[in-house]
Amino acid sequence: MKVKVIGLLILIMCICGGCKAQDVQQEDTFKSCEVFAMDTYMTLTAYGENANGALEKAESRIKELDDKLSTGNADSEIALLNSNGSGKLSKDSFYLLEKSLDISKKTDGAFLPTIYPIMEAWGFPTKEFNVPDASLIKNLMPLLDIGKVDIDSQNDSVSFREEGMKLDFGGIAKGYTSDEIMKIFKENGIESGIINLGGNVHTLGTKTDGSLWKVGIQNPYGDEEYLGVLEIADKAVITSGGYERFFEKDGIIYHHIIDPATGYPADNELQSVTIVSNDGVLADGLSTALFVMGLDKAIKFYRDNSEDFDVIMMTKDDVVYVSEGVSDSFSTSFDMKLIER
Ligand code: AMP
Ligand code: MG
Repeated sequence: MKVKVIGLLILIMCICGGCKAQDVQQEDTFKSCEVFAMDTYMTLTAYGENANGALEKAESRIKELDDKLSTGNADSEIALLNSNGSGKLSKDSFYLLEKSLDISKKTDGAFLPTIYPIMEAWGFPTKEFNVPDASLIKNLMPLLDIGKVDIDSQNDSVSFREEGMKLDFGGIAKGYTSDEIMKIFKENGIESGIINLGGNVHTLGTKTDGSLWKVGIQNPYGDEEYLGVLEIADKAVITSGGYERFFEKDGIIYHHIIDPATGYPADNELQSVTIVSNDGVLADGLSTALFVMGLDKAIKFYRDNSEDFDVIMMTKDDVVYVSEGVSDSFSTSFDMKLIER
């Protein structure tokens, strides 16, 4: 059976050139727009009378967050912090720092917001890719220690105890952004909406006819067939995979999700990890972390925390592991194995 996404994603027509929401279908009240930010294309769709206003506010918020959080923009708060070694942060950045330190502790360091010096060594930020010498990686490892990040929650300020330490919110920023867009949708009276931030989907409510959203999860092989389709309401569905960003050198693929224990791209049996949760930040952080953990540790982590999220993982031998909380809402043409709580 070929699984293809039907429903809304096909109906969404992208209106390029900024987020000036327009009617795309007269008989319905949905508005849709596309924004390029955080190095990815984002599609936002909202239903209801206030859809236009909600989308315009969402677009401004996306740009505001991109300006604050992007390491690639030399003027962003995080880039300035990284070059100065200390600084006062906005509420957004400070919240994300606290959240990312918390996820880091929970995942035993599989998620590590201080990973940026290693990302730079591999050339991911500039796209000038390079396989670093083992000695360089070894020398950079002490800079990853989150115990050397001092935070002052009274003043929302932060300082690094060692020169050269740098933050990277690339593994969590889109999840936060999607939470913030959902907040804006709700504040503007939107009860039904779906957003797709470069493959990370967040749904609000159900479709207007009360049926569930159908979310297609990208197949790591990049072909037409989806890894599977999830029918859900009110959830973030966030995926991490080495296939999203990588380079090849001498026949070896090096991807962008680094195992903080080694400084090298995570290398285990997983091809992709999708997290389903009410909490976009958590879903984003955990998609990265469980990808680093590998199958067995990820299953154990799920069992210890199954009240917070569900997970869909594809292994390199094309088996899709699906946790109990979403197994009934998920369909796939790949071999599927259930992860019990
Ligand atoms: P994601 O697609 O959410 O898994 O995020 C991947 C991005 O997170 C990378 O491009 C890096 O910017 C950053 N990153 C890579 N490895 C890690 C890690 N172990 N912990 C936290 N962030 C990471
Ligand atoms: Mg992530």
